[in-house]
Amino acid sequence: MDAINVRVVHSRTPDEAFDTGRHGPLANNRSTNGARADIVAPRYRAISERRLDRIPQLAGRHEDERFAMEVVSRVLPFRTNEYVVNNLIDWSRVPDDPIYQMTFPQRGMLDPADFDRVADLVKRDATDEEFAPVVASIRENLNPHPAGQRELNIPRHEDTVVEGIQHKYRETVLFFPSRGQTCHAYCTFCFRWAQFVGKDMKIYAKQMDGLHRYLASHPEVTDLLITGGDPMVMKASALSRYLEPILNSPDTAHVRNIRIGTKSLTFWPYRFVSDPDADELLGLLERVVASGRHLAIMAHFNHWQELSTDVVQAAMRRLRNTGTVIRAQGPLLAHINDEAAVWRRMWEDQVRLGVVPYYMFVERDTGAKRYFEVPLERARQIYTDAVSQVSGLARTARGPSMSAEPGKVEVLGVQRVRGERVFVLRFLQGRDPNWVGVPFFAEFDPKATWLDQLRPAFGEKRFFFEEGLESMREMA
Ligand code: SF4
Repeated sequence: MDAINVRVVHSRTPDEAFDTGRHGPLANNRSTNGARADIVAPRYRAISERRLDRIPQLAGRHEDERFAMEVVSRVLPFRTNEYVVNNLIDWSRVPDDPIYQMTFPQRGMLDPADFDRVADLVKRDATDEEFAPVVASIRENLNPHPAGQRELNIPRHEDTVVEGIQHKYRETVLFFPSRGQTCHAYCTFCFRWAQFVGKDMKIYAKQMDGLHRYLASHPEVTDLLITGGDPMVMKASALSRYLEPILNSPDTAHVRNIRIGTKSLTFWPYRFVSDPDADELLGLLERVVASGRHLAIMAHFNHWQELSTDVVQAAMRRLRNTGTVIRAQGPLLAHINDEAAVWRRMWEDQVRLGVVPYYMFVERDTGAKRYFEVPLERARQIYTDAVSQVSGLARTARGPSMSAEPGKVEVLGVQRVRGERVFVLRFLQGRDPNWVGVPFFAEFDPKATWLDQLRPAFGEKRFFFEEGLESMREMA
């Protein structure tokens, strides 16, 4: 196992790591790109909304800002940790710092009327029973399960629903292991936020053998995506219990590609460097690769700042040494990365660090979308400006792409056709594989932020895929 250029120094106490002076703010923790680095190995501890007062950097923030955090975190999940607070956030730039925006709740994330309803309850120190119905109704209006996740993607095996699996595209199965349904920190824009706010909103597998049985009976499935939450919060031994049977059984030999969706490289890169079972985890990944499969870490990145510390770069080197390919994807978000220069630098840094830029997503129509959404036209412009400034090696990123109910729809551009200004779109993935690659057109709308706000161009009544999608809904 590789320990290139890294000497792990274990912190003596959990609190020792939570010390901005010694552990270093962002500027002091930048890698010199290959130089030997001493990586302090803190113990992971989540910081919830109840422990905000333990973050010394927040002490200087305005009372209104703190109060807004308290209100918003009653509705949307909040979690951070000392690595994020001490190493990723540039506190001299708060509140504009992108990682602060990515992890700390802001007032604008809730509709003003909803904010006021919850604020009233907080001010009068209401009971949990009083909060519950208000919070539940606000959450229901935030589209907790977008893109037909609960209706269209849930598969059956021998007439029984297979829990914790989504099968939207023919060749790819998504698996949600029960122990992976949390993250080392939570993104404020999370599209899976419902996974973190109560059992009744969760999708997860209670049993282990359902996945194997399902894969064995679906020879058309070539790709397994283990996702969450974040599967990398799991112990290596737990992850191994899901993966090893797939590696070792001839029934699942058709599963050639294994992907693991994770933001642990951003939120807790120690997972691959100094956590007690980091080596065991990398050994497991090596065995996946040795089985002849393609293993991809689908790393979630939103800003180059996430790639800048010694420990994330050490983690990436260690991962790549196992034969794993790291692919990078993430949404385009107001307040965080809605500038071409941010994407250009992020993609350039990724290529330099051996990571393959993969997707620029459009922020999904769920949760705090109102705060983060960017019109499709602007998203397309940012993508075009960024991609035109990088070399071909970074032009592997596709987008902007909407993971919508019928499939992944890419905004190819805006054109004037027969005198009409139109969006040119195409499916990168579709519930019906025949939709993939077919260009289609929507009336130009400068304010549209999602597929369901678009109307077919040229006076057409519906998009070409709508009839098929309706049949799928009826059959679900
Ligand atoms: S890492 Fe993914 S699942 Fe976890 S909070 Fe962020 S967006 Fe949500």
